[in-house]
Order: sequence, then C-alpha cells, then structure tokens
Amino acid sequence: MQIKITEVGPRDGLQIEKSFIPTARKVQLIDALFHAGIRSVEATSFVSPTAVPQMADAADVVQQISRPEGSVVSVLAPNVRGAHDAIRAGADELVAFVSASATHNRKNLNRSIADSLINIEAVADVAFQHRIPVRGAISTVFGCPFEGDVDASSVVGIVQALSRIGIRHVTLADTTGMATPAVVRAVCASVRNAVPEARLSLHFHNTRGLGLVNVAAGLELEIKEYESSVGGVGGCPFAPGATGNVCTEDLVHYLHEEGHDTGIDLDSLVRAAWLLEETLGRPLPGQVMRAGKRLRRYDAEAAPAATAR
Ligand code: ZN
Repeated sequence: MQIKITEVGPRDGLQIEKSFIPTARKVQLIDALFHAGIRSVEATSFVSPTAVPQMADAADVVQQISRPEGSVVSVLAPNVRGAHDAIRAGADELVAFVSASATHNRKNLNRSIADSLINIEAVADVAFQHRIPVRGAISTVFGCPFEGDVDASSVVGIVQALSRIGIRHVTLADTTGMATPAVVRAVCASVRNAVPEARLSLHFHNTRGLGLVNVAAGLELEIKEYESSVGGVGGCPFAPGATGNVCTEDLVHYLHEEGHDTGIDLDSLVRAAWLLEETLGRPLPGQVMRAGKRLRRYDAEAAPAATAR
C-alpha cells in the first residue's frame, strides 16, 4: 500500500522542549525532513507565545522553510487569531484540536468539548474563506489519563460534528499511549460505521511500547495515513505519563520491510534524526537511528569474539 506519513516532530516533539531552539535549527530540521522525501510536516503551532514560548517563532519557521513540490506545511491553529496568523505566514493546512475526554479537554484547552467545537468552526470559517483545508485532531481517543477508557460514542460524536463543519480529515490521536490493537480496531470500526465519509489518520505514542503494533492494527483496517515524529520525540504537557510519538524512522523501516511504499528515503531520514539529536543534546528514543536497518552488516574481523573454548 502507499502510506502517507505526516511528520509531527517539529510541533508535537519540540513544543515541550524547555530551552528555546533557535529558529534556524527548526528550519534546518524541517528542510532535512522534506529532503528525505517526507511531504507532510506539522511544522509549528500558532499558539500564544506566553503559553508555549517554544512556538513563538511560528511565522518565521513557516516563512523560512524551503518547500519542495507537493509538500504540505500544516500548523496548529488554536483560535481565529492563530488561523489568521498561520494563513498570513503561508501555511497550507490548519490543524484544530479537541479532546475526546472532557477532563483532558478542560486541562489542555480550558473549555468544554462543545465550546471547543464552536471554536473549531470559527477557525474553519477563516480557513475556508482562504481555501485552506482544515484537519481535525482528536486527542485521548483511545484512553484518557484522567478518565480511563473513552466512550467510542464520544469520539463518533466529535467526528460527526467536525464533518458537519466541513472537516472530513480527522486524526485520531493516542495522546498518552493507552491504545492497544483491540482498542484501535473497536474505535476505528465505530467511527467508520458512523461517519463513512471521514478520512482517518492515526497518531500513536509509544508510551507502553505498543506504537508500531497499533500501526499494524491500523494497516489491517487499511488506514493509510499515520503521524509520527523523527527520533521519537514528543509528549503532551497536560497529560501525565505522556512520552514520545511513534518514531518516524522506526515506522518507515517497518513499513518498508512489510512492502509498503512511503516515498521516503530512510537513510536520509536517519540523518535528520541525528541532526535533531545533536540539536537537543541528548539521546533520542528512536531505535533504527541507532541500530541501523535490518540488513546492516558488521565487519566480522572487527567485532569482539569469545576467546575461551
Ligand atoms: Zn503526539
């Protein structure tokens, strides 16, 4: 299958970094990701700079990255003001967030789910006036750190509401790694049955080591769009226990080994992960960036060998 990967590291990964990453380094990372063949990047977030200082350079980032043919630069637009700023900066797609769990929505966005949907409609109005598409991103779809299991009917209700607003492309996000293949199958089936027109992307976190297993469950359902972050960076500041996203290199390595096509050059992508590791100055959780591809070969002479017999 042709699988589309949206790289979310520059936004989902970097937003929780405490020390400010220079704009030039962010631009360099996104350029490296595009160079590796990624064609969809969630580049930044047009949030209030006081709330998330790391994203204060959102407009500069969008304006400075070089965009190859066919590339899509998505950005988070949490409100109408952010939407205007994002469109002025040249974003190709806006992403509007809501949580499937009322408690997480309140913690994360400080309002009810119903109020969030009203806000998303206002953001979408601005985007549609400028013929810019909007993707809906629903967090805590597969479990909430405060509420536990999230009722599939709550997810379905939000997907239906987004569809009424004109938002057909929806990301189902597992904010704190509570998804399992069984949960993925159940929730995705409910959404598909109730809203067959929805175009689904899946966004998993590797908190409990089930990231790629959940992708496998998505592939069984023939879902063709996934979000991941280079080096496996990421987390959510308002969700206890949140850790990194599914790692893009590990995901691409897995997909290619399964015979799927991503259009991404894995070696080049691994170099982007190394670049990010250097920028952040600490080891990243990605595994293929360290171990290499499956058929990496070592020099037998140079490898240590047992001497005792
Ligand atoms: Zn995430």
